[in-house]
Amino acid sequence: MNFTSKLRCEDNEISTAFRSFAPLERDQFFRWFQMIKLLDDTALFNPDYIVVRESPISGKGIFTTKPCKRDEVLMIIAGEVIDGNECERRENEENNVYIFWNSENSFIDTAMTEKIRYINHSCSPSASVQERDDVSLFLVAARDLDTGEEITIDYDYEDIYEICKAHNPLCAALPCAAKQQPNPSAC
Ligand SMILES: [Zn+2]
Repeated sequence: MNFTSKLRCEDNEISTAFRSFAPLERDQFFRWFQMIKLLDDTALFNPDYIVVRESPISGKGIFTTKPCKRDEVLMIIAGEVIDGNECERRENEENNVYIFWNSENSFIDTAMTEKIRYINHSCSPSASVQERDDVSLFLVAARDLDTGEEITIDYDYEDIYEICKAHNPLCAALPCAAKQQPNPSAC
């Protein structure tokens, strides 16, 4: 074997090895990249300016301890990533009401989280949920928030407006966002 053919041979081995490992490495790289991105925003996972306490809407809720600006990212919503079937099973069999829809067949179960699991529905929500990545979502202020305001979102599923109207003492007094929905009778 002369020098040139050895080189070519090694070259070939390397490229074969690379081809066989490349997909795995790409996946790993992607996961590391996601992790680094997550670490970068660690402060937004459990921000200390969001606290859990009794809510006038229902049970416990989450509240600000500082003023927040409209469009400000309040926190990152993360939890266990599950698919649609598992989501349905947990909702039906475990009565789990802490699951957020993320993308087509990807859901985030926040049942084990400290704060976001307590977020209440409002027909006139103070925050909205926005896309982040495959494993998390952003919670964003829908308007300027004062210190001590409850952070709420529109749960956005059938029946929620009726349930809210019947059980949330604050609902009737709020400007109702559901009035802009296709079914205004909800308000
Ligand atoms: Zn309502």
